[in-house]
Amino acid sequence: MLQLSNVNTFYGPSQVLHEVSLEVQKGEIVCLLGANAAGKTTTMKTIFGLVRPRGGSILFDGKPIERRLTGDIVASGLALVPEARRIFPRMSVLENLEMGAYTRKSRAELSQDLEHVCDIFPRLRERLKQAAGTMSGGEQQMLAMARALMSHPRMICMDEPSMGLSPIMVETVFETVQRIRNEGVTVFLVEQNASMALKLADRGYVLQTGKIVLSDTAANLLTNDLVRQAYLGGA
Ligand code: ATP
Repeated sequence: MLQLSNVNTFYGPSQVLHEVSLEVQKGEIVCLLGANAAGKTTTMKTIFGLVRPRGGSILFDGKPIERRLTGDIVASGLALVPEARRIFPRMSVLENLEMGAYTRKSRAELSQDLEHVCDIFPRLRERLKQAAGTMSGGEQQMLAMARALMSHPRMICMDEPSMGLSPIMVETVFETVQRIRNEGVTVFLVEQNASMALKLADRGYVLQTGKIVLSDTAANLLTNDLVRQAYLGGA
């Protein structure tokens, strides 16, 4: 469904992604693990056209997207839950959700989608009028995920959804990721929380200083020496 081949991304003269190749197949949960500054967020930004790669190709459903506008990419069925959530803090929960649906036209579709995400995130239904920035970190993460779902994606990319959350909220977030997949949405997950991500994912990639150094099933990565030492605290 999503295929990156030999992607090279630069910020000015400095190269951050080096020949990154990875793929996510329909129905999978695939995670991308990496330490701080490995290039995880840059990978997401490159997929969504927020940074243009200088080389390589990105296919979504077999069609090249590396030169397309972010809005067109989202409209084609790929949604992003950005790092640090990036909700609109002064807007209400409802307004944030409506922003996520900007690619959809009809009022009827909008209210149907709103019902659907409120079924997944009942906490949001109770808080539709609340200013989004006054919610807890976990609630804001739920809102960021719900907002992405409002665009009716076939695939969703999430940048560190567990960041800064309490252990119990992290569990809730990962349960929700599972539920989203069970509803037929393919998931690409960027995470530093390797242990949780690998328990949930089907497959994973490890990114080190902008290069993919490992790719395997999640089960194999959980027992891999490099992964255990670098990302699972040597456990
Ligand atoms: P973290 O887990 O800390 O968010 P990350 O793996 O997501 O890290 P990136 O944010 O992709 O890492 O950053 C990769 C490298 O690119 C870092 O060295 C960072 O300083 C650099 N970088 C990121 N954004 C820019 C930018 N706009 N201009 C210049 N350099 C940047």
